[in-house]
Amino acid sequence: MTLLTDDLATWPVRRQAKWPPRNQILTTLGTRELEHLRPMLEPVTMKARCILSHSKAPLEHVYFVEEGLISVLAQIDQRRVVEVWLIGSEGVMGIPLVLGGSASPHRRIVALGGSAYRMSASAVQAAMQRFPSFAALLLRYVQAVLVQTSQAGACNTVHRLEQRLARWLLTAADRCGGEVLPITHDILARMLGVRRASVSECFGTLERVGILKKRRGFVQIVDRAGLEERTCRCYRIMQNEMDRTCRDFETIRKANGGERNHGGLRPVRSSESFQILSAEADH
Ligand SMILES: [Zn+2]
Repeated sequence: MTLLTDDLATWPVRRQAKWPPRNQILTTLGTRELEHLRPMLEPVTMKARCILSHSKAPLEHVYFVEEGLISVLAQIDQRRVVEVWLIGSEGVMGIPLVLGGSASPHRRIVALGGSAYRMSASAVQAAMQRFPSFAALLLRYVQAVLVQTSQAGACNTVHRLEQRLARWLLTAADRCGGEVLPITHDILARMLGVRRASVSECFGTLERVGILKKRRGFVQIVDRAGLEERTCRCYRIMQNEMDRTCRDFETIRKANGGERNHGGLRPVRSSESFQILSAEADH
């Protein structure tokens, strides 16, 4: 299934994960825990469009994303899938394993190519038993995903496509740390579960007012503040939850007495204007 485009010449990602890691969960671990996990963390290249797990198939690994994005897709009929959440360097793919399960009805694909560290199911479960801080970080991330997915479900029910499109682009840009995304209208339509023509119409509107720019195989966010104004409150609620998650990660790290494993940690960004707006939007 061709879902996404990825131009290796222009998409600035590191193709091979390098030590120390950049993944937010791994960098928050104490040095002792991280060094213990190191032999079990296998650096892997994530090629765009690669299916990491099929629906209902047992998950064999969790993936700590370093660069790029993994999309978790829900099947809604014989032909269509809709994205239910995105995973970047703030998180991990493989929540069923974290919660003691082994499979789910979702499919997981590499949305934007990059790199990750992966760890086997048995190694993750053993490490969670041995290191309470590792388990606490993973479970805190699960809480963030629950907020994301429930808010996305509500958003998809009531909010306009332009708002949802803006939310997707902002979320993807936050996770990637860049304003140029290697994605086409066709792919955006599939992710959002709508017709391509509808996405093109919304995109045309946003392009005419100078918020977005279409490049060959890419979308560029030209006016981020403008895009934030066009999206719905759901983006702010979801982003606030990610900010809370980052703060809780820090609390877990300090409670564990660990120093930060600096590996080029890149916090999920929220702009100043967004933070002012979100202060009254999310309680
Ligand atoms: Zn919404």
